[in-house]
Amino acid sequence: MDDGKLHIVLLGPPGSGKGTQAQRLAEELSLPAISTGDMLRAAVAAKSALGEQVHGVMTSGQLVSDELMAAVVKERLAMDDCDAGFLLDGYPRTIAQTETLAQILESIDTELDHVLYLTVPDEELVRRALLRQREDDKEEVVAERLRVYREETEPLVDHYRRAGLLRTVDGNRSMDEVTAAMMEAIR
Ligand code: ADP
Repeated sequence: MDDGKLHIVLLGPPGSGKGTQAQRLAEELSLPAISTGDMLRAAVAAKSALGEQVHGVMTSGQLVSDELMAAVVKERLAMDDCDAGFLLDGYPRTIAQTETLAQILESIDTELDHVLYLTVPDEELVRRALLRQREDDKEEVVAERLRVYREETEPLVDHYRRAGLLRTVDGNRSMDEVTAAMMEAIR
């Protein structure tokens, strides 16, 4: 939608580099990069009520419920820094979440502009995930998160392709090349 705002979703498997690229694009575009994974990890670290609720789910590689995520995302996207748009990293992750996001955007008379889909071969994903070594990155958990991604999140690729929003970017290159390709894809 040409309303001078820019609403971008980053889509891709765990380990595809969404977080890094979201930060870089945010800098280039002067938009906030909103990572639901980082928000949830911060809640866990702060031992807030939300953190206590999601900790177990996250460390097992499962998804936090759509209802809980809807509340988290609605509150975040209503903040002032989202007035000119945003880059979403890690949301939506299920078809139900695509509907919630569409409703949020509709309620403020705007729409999604681009879905940047980052592709990376499986072997590379596993290699990268094991290098990260976060609490939720143990080998079994990495495998589980990839399985959950295939089952719950991969269907979003077709969903957004049909909506004409999908921009596919080869993520198996240097970080600079990927950033450049993403900038090109949204021009
Ligand atoms: P990734 O390494 O795939 O980028 P994230 O850091 O985005 O992972 O997310 C870490 C964990 O937080 C997920 O495995 C999941 O448990 C939870 N999470 C983050 N975003 C969502 C979401 N949109 N829906 C459900 N759970 C989520």
